[in-house]
Amino acid sequence: MDLAYRDITYCKNVGAKRADILRKELGVNTALDMVRQYPYKYIDRSRFYRIAELEDEDTYVQIIGEVTEWHTVGIGKAQRLSATFFDGTHQCELVWFQGVKYVKLQRGVKYLLFGKPSRFQHIYNFVHPELTPWNKVTPEMTQGLEPYYNTTEKMKRHGLNSKAMRSIIAELLPDLKLGVPDTIGADVLQRFRLMSLTDALINVHFPKDTISMQNARARLKFEELFYIQLQILRQMKRREQNPGFAMPLVGNRFHALYKALPFELTGAQKRVIHEIHDDLKSGHQMNRLLQGDVGSGKTLVALLCCLLAVDNGFQTCIMAPTEILANQHYETLKAFLAPLGDAVHIALLTGSTTAKNRVPIHNGLMNGTIHILIGTHALIEDTVQWQNLGLVVIDEQHRFGVAQRAKLWTKNQTAPHVLVMSATPIPRTLAMTVYGDLHVSIIDELPPGRKPIQTFHYSIKRRAQVYAFMRNQIDSGRQIYVVYPLIKENEKLDLLDLQNGYNELCDAFPEYRISMVHGQMKAADKDLQMQRFASGETQILVATTVIEVGVNVPNATVMIIQNAERFGLSQLHQLRGRVGRGGDQSYCVLMTDLELSKDTRKRMDIMVATNDGFRIAEADLQLRGAGDIEGTQQSGIPFDLHIANLSTDGPTLTLARQAAMDILDADPLLEDERNRIYKRQLDLLRGKPAFNWGDIS
Ligand code: ADP
Ligand code: MG
Repeated sequence: MDLAYRDITYCKNVGAKRADILRKELGVNTALDMVRQYPYKYIDRSRFYRIAELEDEDTYVQIIGEVTEWHTVGIGKAQRLSATFFDGTHQCELVWFQGVKYVKLQRGVKYLLFGKPSRFQHIYNFVHPELTPWNKVTPEMTQGLEPYYNTTEKMKRHGLNSKAMRSIIAELLPDLKLGVPDTIGADVLQRFRLMSLTDALINVHFPKDTISMQNARARLKFEELFYIQLQILRQMKRREQNPGFAMPLVGNRFHALYKALPFELTGAQKRVIHEIHDDLKSGHQMNRLLQGDVGSGKTLVALLCCLLAVDNGFQTCIMAPTEILANQHYETLKAFLAPLGDAVHIALLTGSTTAKNRVPIHNGLMNGTIHILIGTHALIEDTVQWQNLGLVVIDEQHRFGVAQRAKLWTKNQTAPHVLVMSATPIPRTLAMTVYGDLHVSIIDELPPGRKPIQTFHYSIKRRAQVYAFMRNQIDSGRQIYVVYPLIKENEKLDLLDLQNGYNELCDAFPEYRISMVHGQMKAADKDLQMQRFASGETQILVATTVIEVGVNVPNATVMIIQNAERFGLSQLHQLRGRVGRGGDQSYCVLMTDLELSKDTRKRMDIMVATNDGFRIAEADLQLRGAGDIEGTQQSGIPFDLHIANLSTDGPTLTLARQAAMDILDADPLLEDERNRIYKRQLDLLRGKPAFNWGDIS
C-alpha cells in the first residue's frame, strides 16, 4: 500500500499512543512522513579502533578488548564503577555513575566496547559505554552505518528514542522498496545526477556504504532546496508581473543634487543607481535589496533614488530602525539637499513626534507637498495617508518584520517600489533563500581615500596601554567611542557596567569631556549627548549598542568595544563601521576577558584579520549556523529545512536554484502537464503546518 496513505498508527512498533506523540512532536501522520524523518548522523559500526588511534573526542567508536580490573567507589547514590579496558597494547578507562549494580563484568572475556571517548589528562575514558561480550555480538551490530535520529524529551519519555525510530522505519523498508512516487522529474534527476526518491529514502536510513549515504543525502538536500527556490522564485516571477509606477524621467532635482555633490560617486554607486532606475522605469513594481558594507555610501544612493521618484511626481519615504538613525538620516539628507533650496521638501516622523507636530506632516503627505518622509516604523501607522507614495526605502532591513513590509504596499492600489538596504552583508546562501525573492544590487567599493581600519584584540589586563593610546589619539584631535554590551535579560547589570565604565573613564581622563548614551535615556537627553559628541564638544562617547547602526561622526577614529566576547561577529563589524569615516587612520580595539572560548577566539581573530564584511558574514554563518543569524531566522524561508544546511550546502543551493529557475523560465505558472508534480508537491508543502525544529533536543 502507498506509504503516503498509511496512517502512522497502523505501522509496526507504533500504536495509538506513540502515533499521537509522533504526530504532535514531529508532525508525522503517515508512513511516508515517517520515512521522511532523516537521521542527523551515522556511526560507522564496521570500523574498529585501537586505543592508540583515538584522537577525536565526542565521536562514537568501537574497540575490541577485555576488562582487566574494576572497582567501585562511594556508596549509595554516589556510587561509581570504574574499570580498566585493555585492547592488547593500550588501556583506557570505563566509568558508570548510574545503574552500577546492573553492570556485570568478567575477566578474560572478549568484549565489544562502544561509546564516546573523552580525554582526561593522558588517558581516554568512556562514560556509560555499551559493553557487549563478543559471543553476543550479532553481525548486524557491526555492519555499516548506524543511523541516529533526533527525538524530543517527550518522545524519549515514551520510549521513542533513536533506536525505536530506527526500528519503526526498518519495518517500513520492504514497502518502501516497492517504490514511492518521485517529487522531481526524471530529466532533472538525470541532469544533476541525482538518485530517485525511493533509492534516496532507502539509503538515507540504511546505507550500504558511505558513498550511497552521501548520494542519498545529496539528493534529499537538493530536493529540499529546490522546492524552497521554486516557491521563492515563483513569488518573484508573480511579483515581477505586478504593475508598478513608471518613473522614466531623470529630472531636475536629481541632476541638481548630482552636480552639487562635493565628491564624485563611486563606480559602484553609479552602477546600482542605474540598476534601480531600470526597475523604476520598467512599469513593474521593484523589490530590490541594496547591499553594501558599512560606509559604502548607501544613504546617498537612497537619496538620489528618492529624487528620481520625486522628479516623476511621486512621494517617497525612508524607514530607519531606530529614532537616532532616523534623526541622523534627516540631518544628513537636509545637508545634502541644502544647495537645492526649496525644490525638495523633507519631513521627519518618529514615535516622539508630538501630536501637534504630526498634523502638518499628515497634511503635507496627503496633499503631496512633502516629497520625502524620513522616519521609524511610526510612518507605517494607519493614520499616515499619502497622496502618491511611489518609492519606499527601508534601511537596515533586518530589524523589520516582513509583515511590516507587506503593510506598506497594501496601502495603495498599485504597490510602491521597494528598496531594502542592508549594511549587514548577507552570505550568498542566505541571500538566495531569505531574500531570494528580491533582486540584489551590491555596492562593492568604498569611497576613495579611506584607510582600512586597524583592529587590535587586548585582554582587560592591558587597560593601561589602551588608555595611553586613547590619550594619544585625543591629543591629536580625534574622538573615541567606548561601547558596552547591553542585553535585555541582563539590563540592570549591563547598565551598571556602563555606568562604572563611564566613572572609570571620568577618573582616568579628568581633562576630557565625556558623553554617555543608552537606550533607557529619554530621547531628548540621548539626542543632546549625541549632539555634544557629534559637534566635538565631548571627546569620548560611552554608549551601549544604541550607536550600532548608522551614526556618522567622521572625526571619531577609535572604537573601543568592551566585553567584545559578548558580541556576535556582525554586530562587531557594525560597531567597527562607526569609525573609519574620515580621512584619518582609524582603529578598533576589542577588549575581552582573559579566558576565552574557542569560538570567541575565532571571532576576535577574524575581526583582526579582515575588514571585509562579506568574509565576516560568511565566517559568522559558519560559526553560528543559519538559524542564528540576526533577523534571518528561518521564518524568512518558506519551508523548514530538515536535511539541508545553509551554512554548508551553498553549492547544492546554487544548483537547485538553477534547476528551479529553468523550469519557471519555461513555465512561470507551472501550468504544463509535465510540471504537474512540482505544482502538486508545492501545494503539499504549503499545506503542511509549520514545524519548529528548535523544539528538538
Ligand atoms: P552606509 O550607509 O552605506 O554605511 P553612508 O551612506 O553613511 O554609508 O556613507 C558614509 C560616508 O561616506 C558619509 O559621510 C557619506 O557622505 C560619504 N560618501 C558617500 N558616498 C561617497 C563618495 N562617493 N565619495 C566620498 N564620500 C562618500
Ligand atoms: Mg547607513
